[in-house]
Amino acid sequence: MKQISKNSWAEPFKIKMVELLKMTTPAQRKKALKEAGLNTFLLKSEDVYIDLLTDSGTSAMSDQQWAGMMLGDEAYAGSSNYYHLEDVVKEVYGYKYLIPTHQGRGAEHILSQILIKKGDIIPGNMYFTTTRLHQELAGGRFEDIIIKEAHDSANEFPFKGNVDLNKLETLIKKHGAQKIPYVCIATSVNMAGGQPISIKNLKELRTLTKKYGIRIIHDMTRVAENAYFIQQLEKGYSKKSIKQIVKEICSLTDGATMSAKKDALVNIGGFMATNEWDVFEEARNMVVVYEGLHTYGGLAGRDMEAMAIGIKESVNDNHIRARVGQVIYLGEQMMKYGVPIVKPIGGHGIFVDAKKMLPHIPQHEYPAQTLAAELYLDSGVRTMERGVVSAGRKPNGENYFPKLELVRFTIPRRVYTQAHMDVIAESAARVFERRKKIKGLKMIYEPKYLRFFQARFEQL
Ligand SMILES: *Cc1c(COP(=O)(O)O)cnc(C)c1O
Repeated sequence: MKQISKNSWAEPFKIKMVELLKMTTPAQRKKALKEAGLNTFLLKSEDVYIDLLTDSGTSAMSDQQWAGMMLGDEAYAGSSNYYHLEDVVKEVYGYKYLIPTHQGRGAEHILSQILIKKGDIIPGNMYFTTTRLHQELAGGRFEDIIIKEAHDSANEFPFKGNVDLNKLETLIKKHGAQKIPYVCIATSVNMAGGQPISIKNLKELRTLTKKYGIRIIHDMTRVAENAYFIQQLEKGYSKKSIKQIVKEICSLTDGATMSAKKDALVNIGGFMATNEWDVFEEARNMVVVYEGLHTYGGLAGRDMEAMAIGIKESVNDNHIRARVGQVIYLGEQMMKYGVPIVKPIGGHGIFVDAKKMLPHIPQHEYPAQTLAAELYLDSGVRTMERGVVSAGRKPNGENYFPKLELVRFTIPRRVYTQAHMDVIAESAARVFERRKKIKGLKMIYEPKYLRFFQARFEQL
């Protein structure tokens, strides 16, 4: 099997400005965690040492992007930054029509309301929290069609983001193609551990969906990271640039939602894109109601300029190699200490298997939530739960109990150094050493939507 290049990488930038980090004492962390209801989302950022909560909106912008911020054309309508962004989206991704939104979920909201009717089925390669919620709020139901390997944290298949085409065809035959407005395909599947989909699988999916007249909508939040795995691991792609591969991925789909806060290297922003004029027309009507005029979608001109520049930087081969290289480095350090992680290592972070690390804590006592709290106590490193708390409840009120119960160590882009990675791995190793003494949690407050953001816990 092909392997990811083992040649050393180094950050393809030098540092021009620094932000000092705050160190805390164990007593300070204990107090802060208690006040946060043992939920790392409720910690104050000033109480965090190394922040791996998310890679969303946490990237460091380049000097070019900051210079772009000064070129913000803050007009209500027709800002020149919008036209720049439109050109870049066409050039880099190839989609015809663009609707900017304040972030990814703004795009998901508009797309779901336009395409989904009550009773529809939306198949996808594993759910994402906000994506599925918007599908459900529009009256649809999500169906998981990812290959079964994705649900097994130890399976080392390189493309665990692939779609099980048999599962999809069975769904189509059962419900009829008219009940399926689109298949939702994420690149670098977040909830599976940042696992890529292969071009081969995407091409087969294109053929199958064409046969039934069903669209493919691309959740392209981490498309550049996915392209890196294709370049390194898929036959026939080692000589292609990330830019070429990204464009090929997009060309196999009909439209997209994007959270530019991830791969596109900005702190805020997103968009919806489509190749269909009718869908664009409707989206242009809706965006005015929920986000802002169709030439700004809730963003300042300067935000759109930073996004346009960030998109171009995100498909640079040297950038993406160092980005994913850093994630792989952290994963390899953690494996050396015996910490059980999802394999293969994905593109945006390391996912620790909490069921394996804390087998004595049953899933209804939140092993991943527990582990995230323990890590913070140990070193001030902030991670997040991706397990039963994130999975939430079904529309009928029952809990989803996902197979994967993970703690995500998400690496912000261009923010931390290799020495930080060492400190993080050592902290994970210390918690691993005392894992048998760790006790589970009970939930004492549960919000109605996306509970993982605001739920509160107590130790059992
Ligand atoms: C972050 C994310 C979203 C939602 O985007 P926001 O910008 O957070 O609203 C959708 N899909 C995936 C895969 C994501 O990671």
